[in-house]
Order: sequence, then structure tokens, then C-alpha cells
Amino acid sequence: MGTQLHMFLLPFMARGHMIPMVDLAKLLSSRGIKITIVTTPLNSISISNSIQNSKSLSTSQIQLLILKFPSAEVGLPDGCENLDSVITPDMFPKFISAFNLFQNPFEEAVMKQRPHCILADMYFPWANDVAAKFGIPRLNFHATSFFSSCASEFMRIHEPYNHVLSDTEPFLIPRLPGDITFTKMKLPQFVRENLKNEVSEFIKRAHELGFACYGIIMNSFYELEAEYVDCCRNVLGIKAWPIGPLSLCNKETEEKAQRGNESSIDEHECLKWLDSKKPNSVVYVCFGSMAKFNFDQLKEIASGLEAARKNFIWVVRKVKKEEEEENHDWLPEGYEQRMEGKGLIIKGWAPQVLILDHPAVGGFVTHCGWNSTLEGVTAGVPMVTWPMAAEQFYNEKLVTDVLKIGVAIGVQKWVRVVGDFIEREALENAIRRVMEGEEAKEMRNRAKELAKMAKKAVTENGSSYSNLHDLIQELKSLAF
Ligand code: UDP
Repeated sequence: MGTQLHMFLLPFMARGHMIPMVDLAKLLSSRGIKITIVTTPLNSISISNSIQNSKSLSTSQIQLLILKFPSAEVGLPDGCENLDSVITPDMFPKFISAFNLFQNPFEEAVMKQRPHCILADMYFPWANDVAAKFGIPRLNFHATSFFSSCASEFMRIHEPYNHVLSDTEPFLIPRLPGDITFTKMKLPQFVRENLKNEVSEFIKRAHELGFACYGIIMNSFYELEAEYVDCCRNVLGIKAWPIGPLSLCNKETEEKAQRGNESSIDEHECLKWLDSKKPNSVVYVCFGSMAKFNFDQLKEIASGLEAARKNFIWVVRKVKKEEEEENHDWLPEGYEQRMEGKGLIIKGWAPQVLILDHPAVGGFVTHCGWNSTLEGVTAGVPMVTWPMAAEQFYNEKLVTDVLKIGVAIGVQKWVRVVGDFIEREALENAIRRVMEGEEAKEMRNRAKELAKMAKKAVTENGSSYSNLHDLIQELKSLAF
């Protein structure tokens, strides 16, 4: 077997989970670890593009193991291998069944190749059993912040939402440092309504086992949320390695531009547009890879952006032709002409990291997905927080209440995919607060300080750099 450490990486089939895991694969491979990324045919395309586009790090030690996803076995259409393609509610439980069936081919692959360790996304609770069967450590990749992992774990254990009289009555999250308040309305629907179905049971199991593993790896850095890293280690009692920001392993324009998906705009055109704007004068608006607003909300965003009178780049998920025909236009009349030169609308996929890093960008309207949030921190831009679902409401609290580098737009309710409706005035006001005046200046200064710390963390002897080194040494000592 030799003495080269071999790790199996198993990313969850959703872009927000695959993107950081692929960056992590590149980092580990550049430190001499043999990496096998286990994935499915459709997901392998974007993963393999990212690896081939890697310019800053050597990827010679990475191989892809492509296993068939059992879509047909559970009645899903061919090619439904990613959460992106789960478009109707009835597809969700089927996707989960397929996901559970995926354990068999994965286990066979482990048996054949005998890696020294499995690093699987948190949403593969069965990876614990596979690792135990072969006597190897299972590391858990939590694709979020330490803050939100701790918050959701304390919420799960103590259920403080069961002791309030209404969905809007604030309560403290027990044992979480910082006296953080929350409301029941900001929790997932299945928790709020105590629903029991395949989806809720799947998510619950993943969370119950989230800390029952050898250790957890997170795309974060110690200085950003030290209190919460310590809380994970000392209160929840788990080994934890913050090794980010992972996006920083992409240094060249091309690899930043093609990270995660093919960009819908030529990156040079996008940079040229940004180059023509003054520093800190552009607001970047993007809601990650899953959100899909209805037409009323899109119109409201368009009007809010126009009223805020700032330059903007707004990323809108592709609208299908039939939808457009059925619902008419999703932009106010004459909008694109009025916004010419002032607003750039990207329909599809934006080169997000490239845009955020440009000095012209001075604010970020984000749904608070963890990757986006951390990318905003790394770029040193204050944020308007517009959480929709998943654990995004916790990340919002970190940004607004703990780090104080953002303003909440005021979303009150957790709603999957389409989000809670927000009016144009709220967007206009929040943008002004992060872009103009004393408050904005203070937030920007704090954000810039954090950005410096982020960059330092991944350089030689920085905290994340050293954590990754320690992790590798520990895994080697277990393996050999
Ligand atoms: N992203 C991007 N271009 C887009 C939309 C998203 O590059 O147009 C990237 C973004 O940089 C981030 C990831 O996709 O790395 C989204 O992850 P996040 O956790 O923010 O949100 P999710 O998509 O999981 O809701």
C-alpha cells in the first residue's frame, strides 16, 4: 500500500457542497495526499472541469471515481443526480431514497480501494457505518460555519422553540456564546410544524450524527469565529479543523471564473465593466445556486435596485421560455434600457469570487449560504443579509450580530427555494445602509480587517494552513 495517504472524498450532490469540497481536494492533493473524489456521471462534469482548470495548485494526485446514481431505481428521471434537478416536492423523497441506495456501490468501492480515511459531507450519515466496517476514520465535512453548526446542535438538543407562545416570540439559543436570539419562524418548516416524513427524517438523522465521527472539517478560519470553534471543541467535544477560506486556493482569473460551473458571462467582459466603476461603488446581488424567486419578487428586487441608485451586478437564475410566456416579463417596463451602464444583469451563473474580489464592489446582497458569506468576508465587503432557507438564518446572525459587518433586510420566515417576500423599500434602505455614511464605513473597516485575517490564515504558518498540516499528520499517524 506504500506510505502515501489515500483519502476518499464524498461531496453531497449540490453545488454549494461540491464547490468547497473540490477546493479542499486540490489543497490536499497539493500536500501530497492521494485523493479519490467519489461522485456520479452528471456531477463529475463540473468537478472534472474545476480540477482541469486548476492553475494555482497541482491536481495530479486527484482521481475521480464515477459511480452510477440509482435515479431509475427510485423512479427519478434520468440525469436527476443533483439537488438542482429536484424541482417538484415529490422528487425530494425519491432523491433521498436514491441517496441511501448509493451506500452500496460506495461501500464496494471502499472495499476495493481501501482508502485510509473517508471525508464525507455531513449529509451522508451512512458514511459512518462504512468507515466503521473498514476500521478507518470518518471525517465529516460540515458545509457551514462553526457558529451555525453549534447553534443548530444546541437547538436540536434543547428545543427552546417548544417553550415560546408564538412563532415570532424571540428566545435565546441555549449555551451558544454571545446571547443570540432567534424565533421559531426562522426554523425549517418541518421543525416548526413537527412534521415527520422521509425528508425530515433524513435531515434529522444527518444532524443527529453530525458530531458522531472522528472529527469535523469546516470551510472557515479560526480568527473569524474563535469562540464558536472553541465551543465545538470544548463544549460539543469534537475534534475540529477550520481550514478555509477554501476559495482562496484559486488564484488565477480563469480558475476563479470557472469555479463550480461554466460562467454565463465572459469574465473579461465582466471585469471590464467593473474596471469602469469607482472603488466601492457597485452592489453585487446573488442568491446562490438553489434559490429561485417568483416573478413578483424579481420585479420587486429590480425596483429596489433602481431606487437605491447604486451601480449593481444582479445574478438571476435562468428563467425558462415557457415560464416567461406564461407570466409575462419579470422586469419592469423599459428597465434594461434605463439601467444601461449602471446595472449588469447576469442570467445564469456568475463568476462570483472574481466579482467580489474586484475593488469596485462595495456591498453584497446575499442569501447567506455559507460559501457566499465567507467569500464576502474574504473580499472584505459589507453585506445585506437576505436568508431564505437551510441554515442561512444562523449565518445571518453571525454576520449582523457577531461580526457586525452587515445589515439584515428583515426576512422573518424560512421558506425553501422561493424565500419570504421582501418589499422594494427594504432592499433600497438596506443597500443605502451598507453603502453610505458612517455606519457603512465602520462595517467596511471591520470587513477589511477580517479579509486580511482570512488571507493570512491560509498562508504558510497561518491558522488554517497549520490546521491542515496537523490534520494530515494525525491521519498519517493513524494510517501507518
Ligand atoms: N456561485 C457562483 N456563481 C453563481 C452562484 C453561486 O460562483 O452565480 C457560487 C458561490 O461563489 C458559492 C456557491 O456557488 O461558492 C454557492 O454556495 P452557497 O453556500 O453560498 O449557497 P447555496 O448555493 O448552497 O445555497
